Amino acid sequence: MKLSVSSLNFSFPTKKVLRDVSFSAHSGEVFGIVGPNGSGKTTLLRCLRLVLSPQGGAITLDGEDVTVWDRSRIARVFGVVPQSTTLTFPFSVFDVVMMGRIPHLGRFQREGAHDISIVRESMRLTSIDHLFERPISQLSGGELQRVIIARALAQEPRVLLLDEPTSQLDINHQFEVMKLVRSLAVEHNMVVIIISHNLNLSLRYCDRLLLLKDGGVHSCGASEEVLTPDNIRDVYGVEAQLDYNKCIGAHQLTLIDAIEKD
Ligand code: ADP
Repeated sequence: MKLSVSSLNFSFPTKKVLRDVSFSAHSGEVFGIVGPNGSGKTTLLRCLRLVLSPQGGAITLDGEDVTVWDRSRIARVFGVVPQSTTLTFPFSVFDVVMMGRIPHLGRFQREGAHDISIVRESMRLTSIDHLFERPISQLSGGELQRVIIARALAQEPRVLLLDEPTSQLDINHQFEVMKLVRSLAVEHNMVVIIISHNLNLSLRYCDRLLLLKDGGVHSCGASEEVLTPDNIRDVYGVEAQLDYNKCIGAHQLTLIDAIEKD
């Protein structure tokens, strides 16, 4: 499966944000979007699931034009994991994951055995089965993020979009979530697109990266070919060194210093 974006443009009334953005993300890989604050990452993700309507350009899934789909079809195909989630009512974990089934249920239709089995499978994949009846108000940040990922999986999406899902988590839970995301892409044949600020986690867990600068594509390709010292200097204004780390079998960046502006 392939999600392709070509020459995507988007402006808010007061600001042009995305300029001619093109890339393709494939099932079986983790595709990362990186770039400084304000470079257009979240806007791009919102355009992909058509919460914002692009003004020009094409978005296709296996060649099919996604921009003409109705809301309910988009909700069934695109699963979303936001940066953070505030659910104030003390729903149980099971209830929250079941919310992922809403796009598949008809109006006034109650969930059936099929929906329950999908919810249970989503909870198993995210290792939260034991939290089944727990009110979500009593979860740690890492547990809650896994519940939100399980809710997205219960939608049975073909494309999973994650907006900085590790930004609120401690380092242990960051690894846990990135490993889970990787296994979903590789073992469940989804297109997985993830925004991340953590460049070293991106190098380790993303196969390919799109680096945005001022709403345009600065570079796109294999993670270690995108996060080069030259590109980091150009886009972030930071001196960095990139080395292959044998211990973890991945490239890692050492961020040295911000470059002083004259
Ligand atoms: P990122 O996710 O890379 O930090 P965003 O996509 O959130 O960047 O924002 C890109 C640019 O669009 C920023 O300059 C931001 O100020 C601007 N922007 C975001 N939302 C709006 C809005 N509703 N109206 C006008 N400008 C916006």
